[in-house]
Amino acid sequence: MSHGSEFSEGDLRKTGLSLKHDREWDYELERIVEACEERDATTVGLQFPEGLKRRGSAVADDLGELLGDDVSIMISGQPCYGACDLDTYLLRRTDVFVHFGHSPMKESDKIIYVPLFSNVEVAPIMEEALEKLPEEEVGLVTTAQHMNRFDEMRSWLEERGYTVHTRRGDERLTHEGQVLGCNYASADIDAEQILYVGGGKFHPLGLAMEHPEKRVVIADPVNNVVTIADTEKFMKQRYGAVHRAMDAETWGVVFCTKIGQGRWETAIEIVENNDNAYLLTMDEVTPDRLRNFGFDAFVNTGCPRITTDDGPQFHKPMLTPGEYEIAVGNAPLEDLSFDTFHGTW
Ligand code: SF4
Repeated sequence: MSHGSEFSEGDLRKTGLSLKHDREWDYELERIVEACEERDATTVGLQFPEGLKRRGSAVADDLGELLGDDVSIMISGQPCYGACDLDTYLLRRTDVFVHFGHSPMKESDKIIYVPLFSNVEVAPIMEEALEKLPEEEVGLVTTAQHMNRFDEMRSWLEERGYTVHTRRGDERLTHEGQVLGCNYASADIDAEQILYVGGGKFHPLGLAMEHPEKRVVIADPVNNVVTIADTEKFMKQRYGAVHRAMDAETWGVVFCTKIGQGRWETAIEIVENNDNAYLLTMDEVTPDRLRNFGFDAFVNTGCPRITTDDGPQFHKPMLTPGEYEIAVGNAPLEDLSFDTFHGTW
């Protein structure tokens, strides 16, 4: 094995190897090479999130170049949407398994999580957000991609006179101030306004639904916009799904077999208490996979974002476990809230 070590990625390039991977993200090849060397790895598995799969072959080629011909590199073809979503087949069959795009959800000697931090500057968009943050106390949260700038964000706010509240959420979250699409425990803080720095609209929507007493200001450094999270349209969509499911006689209860998405007790409790509910096990939960089942409605105990983000694409109402309780009359409509996920596996 022709391992290199003790190099930064820049140093690795100075070795004269012509590396192919893009420079937009930091793939931390140095750390991967060191880990392979430490473990005397002869097989390395790579898993990329959907948006970066097309870069997989270039990263594999570069690692092959750095690690030498004795190391076999394999790429997972499984869909991947989060740190909860590991290709366990490839994981079992490789000495080192590299999961790109998310921060660790569970410590493991064998798995290297490479979060792929964004290089985008956050100060300009935070400057624009200031007028929407009138109180002195502010909560601060962000996603894994911008975690490399979290200290910078906090200092920037403090320099402008804010008292910044942050906390680490539960064990599903790696960093202080980090939120996931299914976990907003880091926003359980003593401030009425929260600044969310990050892209996308679904994270802050979940955040606002989970913490309805707080005002969530979204500073999106990727699309360069500042908005206030508005849950009204989203809530209407969820109320609509619950209402449509109230007449359901038969239920498909989805248990997701992905390693970090299983809520077995939740799924079993539903089927044990409803003679017309049937447990369905699957890894990917998609509208196509459910289309051929003749159930009147479904409950998804896997990733909450499948229910909330993709809900309208399913041919029958798709509810979260909490929404199911409302639809069958076990809980009042006012209990409708965002489905969150805690712990690991
Ligand atoms: S369960 Fe869904 S939202 Fe949570 S980490 Fe996994 S993919 Fe992301």
